[in-house]
Amino acid sequence: MANPIESDPHGFKRRGVLFVLSSPSGAGKSTIARKLLADEPKLSMSVSYTTRPPREGEVDGRDYHFVDVERFREMVANNEFLEWAHVFDHRYGTPKADVFHTLSEGEDILFDIDWQGAQQLYQLAGGDVVRVFILPPSMAELRQRLERRATDSQDIIEGRMVRAEREVSHWDAYDYVLVNDDVETCFRSVKTILAAERLKRSRQTGLIGFIRHLGR
Ligand code: 5GP
Repeated sequence: MANPIESDPHGFKRRGVLFVLSSPSGAGKSTIARKLLADEPKLSMSVSYTTRPPREGEVDGRDYHFVDVERFREMVANNEFLEWAHVFDHRYGTPKADVFHTLSEGEDILFDIDWQGAQQLYQLAGGDVVRVFILPPSMAELRQRLERRATDSQDIIEGRMVRAEREVSHWDAYDYVLVNDDVETCFRSVKTILAAERLKRSRQTGLIGFIRHLGR
């Protein structure tokens, strides 16, 4: 039987989860995020703005909003970002408006952002953020994955390896740390974390009414 609180048949209100997934690029985070979004109708993705050019296959508005530096600076000046950071020589930022809209609909929101973004969000939300870090099985495996991807030049791959090591050094600023040696297993773990976080008492804002009703 479906869990009545999670599936919400009584119209219980629940505070949305801010769910952050970080990892060095190539550790499989995008695949897991995609699977999660396909499997979780109450979860939407926060689509970031970036000044980096689109990669092959990326779609504007779906993977990122691609903008030039001038437009990005303007958005920073207008206070349109919840957080933003320099990553790999480019700027990346989380737009405020989408996040507030999703949360006001009672839905959860997934952020694919780096450790700097996770930290800023954590401070803004007074700690009410779920931070998940995905590790590759080894740095050698990470290098192989980046090379197999073949969308980046050797220089970029080397740069990404150096940054991956830096990114991994921040693993202890996360609530959950997973090793992605098998995508399916890692995906199931991420789903379990989300399910458990949704059920936390502190998020069940509609539960008080239900408990009073039970007592009658
Ligand atoms: P990529 O260029 O490979 O898509 O992303 C590079 C890094 O930037 C990834 O670690 C990704 O999580 C991070 N990133 C993407 N969007 C944002 C954002 O809005 N804010 C922050 N702080 N990091 C982001």
